[in-house]
Amino acid sequence: MTRVVYVNGQYLPYGQAGVHVEDRGFQFADSIYEVCEILDGRLVDEPRHMDRLERSLGELAIPMPMSRAALGQVMRQVVRRNRVSTGLLYLQVSRGAAPRDFSIPPSGLTPTLVCLARRLDGDKREARANAGISVVTMPDIRWGRCDIKTVMLLPAVLAKDAASRAGASEAWLVDAEGFVTEGASSNAWIVDKEGVLITRPTGNAILPGVTRRTLFDLLIRENIPYSERSFRVEEARGAREAFITSASGTVMPVVAIDGAPIGNGHPGELTLRLRSKFHQAAKLSP
Ligand code: PMP
Repeated sequence: MTRVVYVNGQYLPYGQAGVHVEDRGFQFADSIYEVCEILDGRLVDEPRHMDRLERSLGELAIPMPMSRAALGQVMRQVVRRNRVSTGLLYLQVSRGAAPRDFSIPPSGLTPTLVCLARRLDGDKREARANAGISVVTMPDIRWGRCDIKTVMLLPAVLAKDAASRAGASEAWLVDAEGFVTEGASSNAWIVDKEGVLITRPTGNAILPGVTRRTLFDLLIRENIPYSERSFRVEEARGAREAFITSASGTVMPVVAIDGAPIGNGHPGELTLRLRSKFHQAAKLSP
């Protein structure tokens, strides 16, 4: 069936959906987005995604396009109208459209809101998780506010493209001091020899992942020790296990870094256990 896209108050067929050519999201990346997992037709961790959306918009002084409750209705409508059971919901809010000018109009603009839903092949994703993915490291060339989820994604696009050309599916970005910040579109984790999970603390250098946050809840429930601290590429190479987290892949095992196998070169036992239990800690929308 035709995919339906919500754009500024209307549910439109995919081919007819569009935004203004002078939208500031298009011209300046003056825009925020969110990606939510859809599981059994329900949104995963919607409140946390809404919290982050509100925070990101607030940091750029872009108003919420509508109330949180109304936005939730739109999101659920988009899932329903597209009959997505397993997939992803994408939501974008730009500052709005205006004749091109770097200055933000003091009178304010009406934000542009786009929401769409896409099916994912759950079996393919499981197969990927069972095989594990490879990552390659590269310098983090992004800006100083990676905590804001903007559509200014060109560094991530180039990093993932370079990773793909190197036969890997994710790039781990490395800061000037040699510490891993995060993946190009995921948070980075390792498990040390004692079985302690390690991931970089939040701050301006990484996106505070919703999956990362929910995984902490699971770790607390399961009594699994973790430490929020930075780690270097060398430490990651010697780790017992490694994985990434994101709404699109939940907990995804990493089996090689820069071509060198992690642990025995297969997805880690703890990683797979966390993957299988992840949704027990997540909140599913009605
Ligand atoms: N870091 C970056 C740079 C990302 O793009 C993403 C995915 N949007 C994440 C981390 C993971 O965040 P989440 O768990 O909320 O999907």
